[in-house]
Amino acid sequence: MTSNIQLFGRIVITASINTLTGLHIGGTSASMEIGGVDNTIIRNPINNQPYIPGSSLRGKMRSQTEKILGLEQNQSIGRDVSIHSCQKMESFEKNGGCPVCTIYGLPGERGFNTTSRLVVRDVAMTPESVEKLERSHADLPFAEYKTEVAIDRVTSAATPRSLERVPAGTVFGPAELVFSIYEEKDFDRLFYVFEALQLVEDDYLGGSGSRGSGKIRFESIQLTARAKKDYGKPVDLGSFSSIQEVNNALKSMTAKAKEAIPLESK
Ligand SMILES: [Zn+2]
Repeated sequence: MTSNIQLFGRIVITASINTLTGLHIGGTSASMEIGGVDNTIIRNPINNQPYIPGSSLRGKMRSQTEKILGLEQNQSIGRDVSIHSCQKMESFEKNGGCPVCTIYGLPGERGFNTTSRLVVRDVAMTPESVEKLERSHADLPFAEYKTEVAIDRVTSAATPRSLERVPAGTVFGPAELVFSIYEEKDFDRLFYVFEALQLVEDDYLGGSGSRGSGKIRFESIQLTARAKKDYGKPVDLGSFSSIQEVNNALKSMTAKAKEAIPLESK
C-alpha cells in the first residue's frame, strides 16, 4: 500500500503525573515473567526505578474513549484484553473518520489504513521523587508492598497476596504526548485526547484500580505547536494547572493551534 500523507505540524503536550494513590503497573510483558515473580511493577533495568510505560497510558486512553463512545471492542490483543478497531472501511469513514482508529491507529491487514495521530512516551520519575523515595527507606526500591486479600470466588477462601506499588505522592514527568496534524479534522480530534486524559484521571492507571490503586492527576500541563513551515520554532499554546482547565479552554486553545499550524500543501 502506498500512502501520500502530508504532515502539517505537531502539538506537543507535556505534563507531570502525580500519583494520588499507590500505583501498580505490572511487569506483565514476557521479559518480566522470566523471574516468575508475580505482582511486581515495571522498572527501568538500568536504574531500577519504576516508570510509566507510554503504552499503558495510551492504552488506557484508548479504552476509555472506546467506552464513552460505546464502540464495540472487537479485536483481541491477548490476555483477555480486547480493543475496538474498525473492520470495514465504511465504519472507519463514518462521521468523518472513527476517532479511536484515527488517533490510536489500526492494526495491519486491512484494505484501508491510517497513520495514528498520537505518540505517548514512557514517563520516568522526577529527580525530586527519586530523592524522596531514596531517603524514605521504603520496603522495596522506590516502592511499597501492599497486602490485599483475594477472595476465591468458588471456595470463598481468603488468600492474602502482596502487591508492589509506587507510593502515593510520587511524581512522574514530564510525560510527553505528541499529536500530529495531517488534516483539518485533526484539530477537532484534540477534543478526544483531552477528554481521554480526564477519563483516565477519573478511572485509574495500571492494575488493582477497583481496589484503590492507580488514581493519578495530570499537573503543570504545557501545550506547544510546531508547524511544518517553521518546525524549529515552537509556538506556545498555553500552560494549564489541570486537565479540567485545558478542557475549559479547549476552544480557544484549538483556535490558537489552527493559527500556529497552517494547512498549506507542500
Ligand atoms: Zn474505529
